Amino acid sequence: MVRIIYHREKCIGCNGCVEAAPERWRISKRDGRCVLIDGKGKKGIYQALVSDDEYEANRRAATNCPSRIIKVERVP
Ligand code: SF4
Repeated sequence: MVRIIYHREKCIGCNGCVEAAPERWRISKRDGRCVLIDGKGKKGIYQALVSDDEYEANRRAATNCPSRIIKVERVP
């Protein structure tokens, strides 16, 4: 499995993560920040456990993110 961790408060809505992994990220129409699809959150920090086949795309999303607020790690 792959864990994605996202600090939403610092998102600037640049769309970089959506371009890399559109099945996992989208921009909210409400506040212009990104949403981690199926993420669960507390205090602005959201996490999602996803399958291994999403690893590469979400690594690219993390690399694309100018705010450096996306972390992607493999978990057993
Ligand atoms: S790449 Fe980072 S700053 Fe840009 S929309 Fe995605 S989470 Fe927000």
